[in-house]
Parts: sequence; structure tokens; C-alpha cells
Amino acid sequence: MPKYIFVTGGVCSSLGKGLTAASIGMLLENKGFRIALLKFDPYLNVDPGTMSPYQHGEVYVTDDGAETDLDLGHYYRYTNSPLSKASNVTSGQIYNTVIRRERHGDYLGKTVQVIPHITDEIKQRIVNCAKQEENIDIVLVEIGGTVGDIESLPFLEAIRQFSYEHSKDCLDIHLTYVPYLKAAGELKTKPSQHSVQILRSIGIFPDIIVCRCEESLPEEVKDKISLFCNVKKESVIEEVDVKNSIYEVPLKLREQKIDDKICQLLGLPIRETNLEQWEKILKTILNPKGTITVGVVGKYVQHKDAYKSVFEALHHGAINAGYKIEIKCFEADKILHNNDITEALKGCDGYLVPGGFGERGWQGKIMAVKHARENKIPYFGLCLGMQVMAVEFARHVNKIADANSTEIDPYTPNPVISLLSEQKEVQDMGGTMRLGAYTCKLSPGTHAVKAYGSETISERHRHRYEFNNKYRGEMEKKGFVVAGVLEDGNLCEIAEVKDHPWMVGVQFHPEFKSKPTHPHPLFRDFVKAMIAYKDQKAGKK
Ligand code: GLN
Repeated sequence: MPKYIFVTGGVCSSLGKGLTAASIGMLLENKGFRIALLKFDPYLNVDPGTMSPYQHGEVYVTDDGAETDLDLGHYYRYTNSPLSKASNVTSGQIYNTVIRRERHGDYLGKTVQVIPHITDEIKQRIVNCAKQEENIDIVLVEIGGTVGDIESLPFLEAIRQFSYEHSKDCLDIHLTYVPYLKAAGELKTKPSQHSVQILRSIGIFPDIIVCRCEESLPEEVKDKISLFCNVKKESVIEEVDVKNSIYEVPLKLREQKIDDKICQLLGLPIRETNLEQWEKILKTILNPKGTITVGVVGKYVQHKDAYKSVFEALHHGAINAGYKIEIKCFEADKILHNNDITEALKGCDGYLVPGGFGERGWQGKIMAVKHARENKIPYFGLCLGMQVMAVEFARHVNKIADANSTEIDPYTPNPVISLLSEQKEVQDMGGTMRLGAYTCKLSPGTHAVKAYGSETISERHRHRYEFNNKYRGEMEKKGFVVAGVLEDGNLCEIAEVKDHPWMVGVQFHPEFKSKPTHPHPLFRDFVKAMIAYKDQKAGKK
């Protein structure tokens, strides 16, 4: 039987529960335990796939095509937890399952209720996550939302029951916030006390309290939290805002031996930890050889979580090169207001156009791509970023002035990007895109094959539109390169531009498969190309 750690959050949202759960997972994995992470989201959407990036931030995609919460991106970056449809469960999915069963007659004669039917289904999902692999030692379950929300009650009730049924194998970690009141000159523990009171009234008794705070907590504050929240003082862990990088979080938690404490409480052997690799990463972050600047031209740039994995993957590429990367965001539809595109986009060593949907910002992205192509500035296009690259090339190199994507203009006479016939039939919005991992064959002599060092790769997709092969021949004659195609099919998965130092567009989302310890090869090489460009500009080479 595996052990279970439940991570709940109190006081307010955005405390970084996902990051905390991922960091704890990483520390336990480092001790040699096989871990699995599960995120419960109390909203009623079946998955976040249909939500606006402004509402939800990034949608993280797994190999099996699940559209999931962005916390799964943290799980991926910090751990080797299996990540699949079993790793992110929403209220929408739970209710959907129970209601379908009811319609099928499975509960015949019974009144279907939150307790036990909904809570049983939640408990079943915890078990399903543990069963993904045979050898899972510890399952970490993060409950989205804040204690006290009406929505999260069924989840909390389910974990209460689960902990009651498996009392020796469960642990509750509660993440709270300890604010500093400037006017009073004091740190306040009352919100944490209240949050724990709510939890206790539901029947959950936290074993460890992790306190988010701006500054380190003095002993007397820890004493107070320990006394009022009924946890041992050594189980009051501080999580001070990190100054340099989120990759410091696990190191800070390790300093307080949270992992040893967890093992002790769960009756697991307390094994050694070796965080050398992470310490090295942090050292690089603190002492960079230089700085490069990347311009990200997107539509959702005001929402800092909309491109989470993209930004992280850029950092990983920079860490690998020993550099620091500044990310300059440009609102794609605003850069057009400046008549001089060079002026609007100045100061960058490379440009990246991330994934996106819809018409707004399209023209701005076309201009950014043109700027990068003509001036031989490194460019990396992700998903929509590849589609813009293809349309820009068709318009300005092949002189097909009205080339477009049918997503932008459904009636364009030159649909360089268009829908596959199977997508044309689609009626439902949720879960109907080309989703998840597909195998891609790379062409020799391309930037792509050089980066991956292998001819066959697997990457994750989330899109409806595709490059239209009708235009392939004439565009290739002019220097457009189809650098990778779908293994069983003929879809363009990677595009490049000849006679350009590094211009690569990918139809998939490489950002989902980058870790600080294993930077994604394309992000790694994009960063290298930016460094080379910067050096060349400075006349170093
Ligand atoms: N909107 C484009 C499509 O559906 C690109 C999607 C994306 O960038 N994820 O094909």
C-alpha cells in the first residue's frame, strides 16, 4: 500500500501550493521513493481546455492528451511523476462520471448524493492515480482552491474519509500565509489559526504546516503557530519568498528537513538526500556569464501564467548555457501601432511566438516573424508560432499576398494553414483538438535533427489547424524547409528557413517537456543561437 500526502491550502489563493507539492515530491524522489502527483480542481469544467488563458493561465498537456492544470507543469519540471489523465481530476469529471452512472441505472433505487457517491468517486480517483504504476511508494494529492471554499468541500470530506480508512498511511500538509502588517510592525498568525480551525472542523488535522511569508519567521511566531494549530514546532515549516528562482524552493524546504519529517511521520525509512545537481543549477542562476534578451510576441502576455512552461523552458535553456535570460513581452496587437516594427521590437537577441488562438494579434505576429527572418535574428515559433511563420513566408517570400490560416480567414483563397477534414466535422469544443504525443520523423541536415541528436522524436500537441501540403513544393523551392513530419502521415511538424542562422517553428509544444535538469534541446539551441547573435552584434566574432 502506498503512502498518501494531502496538500491543502488556506488563507488565500496563489500561495504556490503546486510548487510546494512539486518541491516536496522532488525531495522524496531524491530519497529514492517513487512518487506520483495528483491535482484535484474543484471547478465544474471537465478540464481547463475550454477556459480562457486569462482565467486559467496555461493549459498543460500530457502524453496521453489530457488538457490539465498548469501545476502539472511544475510536477513535470521538479519530478519524474507519471503524468496522465489520472493526474488531474476536476469536480466536472467527478460529477460527470456519477451522473452518467446514474443515468445508466447503476445506482438503481438509491438517492444519489454528494456523500457517499461523489466522495467515493473522489477516493477512487486517488486510488487510480496510485495504480498508474506498480511501484509507487508515495502519492501526493494537491487540493486546488482554499479551505473554506464551498466548492472544495467534497474533496476535503473525501480525504478525511480516506485518511480515516488508512490512518497510518496518510499525512496532511497545510499551506498557509503569515502576513506582515507594516503598520503594526508584526507578523500575524491569526489567518493561519483560522484556516486550521476550519480544517479541523471538517475533521482534518494537519500534521505539517508550511507558512508562506515574506521574511523568515522568528521562533516565537513558530511557537505560536505550533501551539494554536496543534502541530509540533519542528513541523512548522517556513517558505519564505525566494529572491532568485523558484528552483530554490526545494532547497529551502530541505534545509528545514521537511522530507525527513514526512518520512518519520509516515513510518518510512529516512534516507539520504543529494541535491548537488539542483545546487549547481542555483549557482548558475546566481552567477551568470552574461544576459540575453528574448522578445515573446503573444496575445496573453498580461497574464503571467499564460505562458508558464514557455518561460520556464527559456530559463532552462539559459541555465544550460550559463546565462541569464530576460524575457520581454510584447502584446502582438499593440506592436502594430508603431509604424517602425524595428523600433517596436528593439533590444532583443531573439524572438519567440508562443501558442495561441484566434485573430487578435495575428498581424502583429506576422510582422514580428518578418522582422526576425529578414534581419536574421533567431526565431522560435511554437504551435501558432509555426503557423505564423509559414504564412509569413508564403506572403513575403513566395509573394502569395493573401496567404492565410483558415482560423483567421475561413474564406482565404490561399489557406497555407487549414483544418484537416476530421477537424471539420468537430462540433464539441472540449477535448477535440489534436492532443497529446505524436511521433515525428526529422529530416537530415536540419537544426531540429542537430538539436535532438536523433531522427525520431515524440512531442505533445494541442491544435486544430495544420500546414497545408499543397503549398509545400513551391515554398520549399524558395527556402522553406519541412524539417519534421508526422511519422504515420504527412503533416508538417517542424518548419525551418534556409539561409537563416536559426529560424525554427514547431507544430507541437516542446515547452511541456523541459526541466531545469534536462533543458529541452530546441530551447537549448535557441538560446545558443541568441547568444551567438548577441556576440556577433557586439562584434566579438
Ligand atoms: N490556434 C491554432 C490551432 O488550433 C494553434 C493552437 C496553439 O497554438 N496551441 O491550430
